[in-house]
Amino acid sequence: MAIKQYAVIGLGRFGTSIARRLNEAGQEVLGIDVNEERVEDVELYVTHAAVADSTDEKALTSLGVRNFDCVIVAIGNDMQASILTVMLLKDLGVKKVIAKALGKRHGKVLDRIGADWIIYPERDMGERVANQLLSPNMLNYIELSKEYNIEEIMIPSKMAGKNLRELDIRAKYNISVIAIVSEGDIIISPSPEQTIHEGDLLVVIGSRDDLANFSSIE
Ligand code: ADP
Repeated sequence: MAIKQYAVIGLGRFGTSIARRLNEAGQEVLGIDVNEERVEDVELYVTHAAVADSTDEKALTSLGVRNFDCVIVAIGNDMQASILTVMLLKDLGVKKVIAKALGKRHGKVLDRIGADWIIYPERDMGERVANQLLSPNMLNYIELSKEYNIEEIMIPSKMAGKNLRELDIRAKYNISVIAIVSEGDIIISPSPEQTIHEGDLLVVIGSRDDLANFSSIE
């Protein structure tokens, strides 16, 4: 993977976990916070750390933030600081600015001023937890639209040992198997003769309701 340069502004719980994970993955990470203690706490887990107020254009310029591949604005409750920071970053020409929104109105403003990706951590996590409760065998999912998902689902044990033709998943459950993950290998576009085994994961595409139905089979 190519190494990219990330800056994370606001080192609360959200910003710190993004910074740490990117750093673990070998990426270059600059952590910025106005609070010195927060910066000290994160120093071991990032490439560079700096104490700065991100609403100060000069501070952003002297940190060279405009040259970063991606800047994440993870400022918590100070909506004004979050908005000002995103605006300055876009004015400076930062290519990709990701910002955390507290709510709908905050998100709308961030969108207007050019944030490239707006994250609603509480709302999104709440949805994920609810989806997990509705589909206990689902491990992971990608939302394609309001209606359709791609999901990674643990196979119900009663299906083990049968091939896809016998299982007839498309006709019975109205979803399509696009891959099988078996002992760490991935079989893309599996043939109808492909047998699935205990412990395999199916990567399936379909409507949320049909997927929920399939992933709650005991
Ligand atoms: P979380 O819910 O992720 O823990 P917090 O509100 O605790 O969020 O963290 C937000 C962080 O953003 C704090 O550490 C705060 O010091 C930092 N912050 C707020 N305003 C600025 C700013 N203007 N410049 C840099 N950092 C800021």
